[in-house]
Amino acid sequence: MSDWARTAATRATVPWRVGDLTVMAGANLLGLIGLLVANFGGGGQADLGAELPWLRLGIGAVVVAGAGNALWLMAGVRAVAIRRRQLLERAPAIRTALRSVADQSNALPADAEALVAGPQMTRYHRTDCPAAAGRPVAPAPLDGHLRAGLRPCGICRPSGWGDGGGADR
Ligand SMILES: [Zn+2]
Repeated sequence: MSDWARTAATRATVPWRVGDLTVMAGANLLGLIGLLVANFGGGGQADLGAELPWLRLGIGAVVVAGAGNALWLMAGVRAVAIRRRQLLERAPAIRTALRSVADQSNALPADAEALVAGPQMTRYHRTDCPAAAGRPVAPAPLDGHLRAGLRPCGICRPSGWGDGGGADR
């Protein structure tokens, strides 16, 4: 595993730190307590003037809870933006890593001619053959293609061409 993949795997899956959670939960708890106190304290008041301080307390409680949630969301947005930037900075390295993995899985021994064939194909081809271009093909050694009952292509004339049965039909 490369460094960037290991870093991504070990990093937390949520963008918030414990401190962010504490602030959000604390603000909501304060808001809830404030609302409950305002509700019970102001509920029994006969006139509006006496109820006003309790109303202010209730509004303040909602504002505190809202501010806590806004901070929580902003912290998450900020963390996602930072990760996005880090990921984009690593994009060339990720592309290179993916390409090297693909190269390794497609690699054949250096002395072997790369011959490819696809699931719907009756012939095998050189990798640069126009008849194989754009089609889903996989490389295999010559004897693998022959065992699969495939014949050599008449356009690119790969190994095995001319051994019989290689007419381009
Ligand atoms: Zn061919």
